[in-house]
Amino acid sequence: MNIPIHFTDGTQLQYDPHTGQLGNTEDGELVSPPLHRAGPFRKSRRVHHLKIQLGLSCNYSCSYCSQRFVPHADQTTAAHVEPFLAELGTWYDPEPGSRIAFWGGEPFVYWKTLKPLAEALRARYPDLVFSIITNGSVLDAEKVEWLDRLGFLVAISHDGPGQHLRGPDPNWAPVLELYRRLRPQNRISFNPMLTRGNSSRAAIAAYFIDLTGDPDVPLGEGSMIDPYDDGGLANLMTPSERLEYRQAAVAELRWGGAQNFSITYSKFRAALGGAHASELGQKCGIEREDSITVDLQGNVLTCQNVSVAATAPNGMSHNVGHVADFDSISLNTITHWSARQNCQRCPVLRLCSGTCTFLQGDMFQAACDSSYTDNVVFLVGAIEAATGKRVEYIDAPHLPEERRDIFGLRGYRPKKVIHLKSI
Ligand code: SF4
Ligand code: SF4
Repeated sequence: MNIPIHFTDGTQLQYDPHTGQLGNTEDGELVSPPLHRAGPFRKSRRVHHLKIQLGLSCNYSCSYCSQRFVPHADQTTAAHVEPFLAELGTWYDPEPGSRIAFWGGEPFVYWKTLKPLAEALRARYPDLVFSIITNGSVLDAEKVEWLDRLGFLVAISHDGPGQHLRGPDPNWAPVLELYRRLRPQNRISFNPMLTRGNSSRAAIAAYFIDLTGDPDVPLGEGSMIDPYDDGGLANLMTPSERLEYRQAAVAELRWGGAQNFSITYSKFRAALGGAHASELGQKCGIEREDSITVDLQGNVLTCQNVSVAATAPNGMSHNVGHVADFDSISLNTITHWSARQNCQRCPVLRLCSGTCTFLQGDMFQAACDSSYTDNVVFLVGAIEAATGKRVEYIDAPHLPEERRDIFGLRGYRPKKVIHLKSI
């Protein structure tokens, strides 16, 4: 499936989002349609990515957090650790190098559970990768030393110059001490998210360079947020803001303002290479057979951002099974991108991978609009880096003009949104 890409010098090339190839081939039919993967999705005991969800409690209340209105399950405590570990050996058979991720909420709110759990797992699995994402607010010297000793990869959630839109700063002293200890082994990053009020990757990078004194400070995440409720929607851009964002963000890519973000490289690679779309998973990989999220009672969850007490937008319970009945686990809460109406023909498919897989209806559409704007900038960046030409227009007749005249170079201007309350 080829989509003509027009350049500002009047030339054009064809881009195939299924193969990631850019060339001179004439527009044609889809030769090898992507596999339709409707689910439900099963799980394998050869787990490569185990996510342990300790609970959804957090000491922050970020306005766009995906977990904000998720009903909490009964609290798990340190008393659940031993039975969990006793059962783990019956269903968990990882290879060296596999990952265990410890999730909250804020995972250090669960310190009395997290500490014995991770220490026992480290003793049992010395070769596995441990990872954790924290807001850093309850770190202290003991936890810093512990994270270092147990070999954790650590990501600090912080939005840089936009943090005030989200929550308070942590106490920086232990965070920076952790950074000093883990940075030489590339075991730490800051993970900012982009919102309508905090959409410059260059400004975010400058903040963390200034904070750490490290010009190469690694930045994870770095995408626009997905919306899960009104708070999330309020942090998404309007059509006018999306146009301005695309213009500004591609300029930052051109001058190197986003190079601290690992997604800049991963999305460039995904845009113009790699596997055929038939092998492309969801952006978070939760549909993969070798990825599983469990709580300490052995319940299997759609992902780490939900609980057994929550229902997915498709009406199914987010509790998709139990490890004691492993072969019956059935992930039936999600929609694979190949089953979405527009994803198969989307120019940014390889970069977006269908956005959040359990979203439906208007919330999915809002996430899709936001994700298209975010990812098309990287698609353009990759094409421009490969060709040395400036992209003007994506000539895909099935797309609305906003998704074709992405920088407004052919006159696209969003219609004014009139809010009834203001009349
Ligand atoms: S931007 Fe929308 S249509 Fe395109 S791949 Fe992502 S979710 Fe699908
Ligand atoms: S399904 Fe994936 S993208 Fe959606 S909330 Fe869960 S981890 Fe995040």
